[in-house]
Amino acid sequence: MADSAMTRLMLRVERIPICGCWIFAFADDGRGYGRIWIHGCVMRAHRASWLLHRGAIPQGADVLHHCDVPACVNPDHLFLGDKTANMRDMARKHRQVFQAHPEKIKRGEACFHAKLSENAVREIIVRTRYGHTGADLARDFGVSQSTISAILHGRIWRHISRTFLPAANDDAAIVAAGGQS
Ligand SMILES: [Zn+2]
Repeated sequence: MADSAMTRLMLRVERIPICGCWIFAFADDGRGYGRIWIHGCVMRAHRASWLLHRGAIPQGADVLHHCDVPACVNPDHLFLGDKTANMRDMARKHRQVFQAHPEKIKRGEACFHAKLSENAVREIIVRTRYGHTGADLARDFGVSQSTISAILHGRIWRHISRTFLPAANDDAAIVAAGGQS
């Protein structure tokens, strides 16, 4: 039973190498949290992930994100806290430590520096307009083609505008990048 729930969770995860987040990009509850059926009820995907990877969630506890990405279900990015102000404060400090010491993050120093990954997403969007294929972009950014597709279709990184025009500097960067490959 637990195995099939684990499979259903993991089959729906996009792993983002640049930040280490595992994005559960399906069945968004409208606030950015994924939803999944598990043990006969609908549950937020990150709570399900904690349950499956780490075990029981104590009564009254919340599963919180180090990475501030609601759709992320990577158990390494999750921690338990409770709903009191005290614990919220602790959660904030916890997150600050996490951001101040990127060496503690297992994969990718860019993990929680949103600008880097936002820039990468913008570059991906711009480069598709210059004829770069999903396969090219997947190789260059070290992600799967389905991740590129998810970006281009707005299933992840929805807050990045798809309509912006590249600045002159971006054009130069693209030409330079194209020249190298
Ligand atoms: Zn994460």
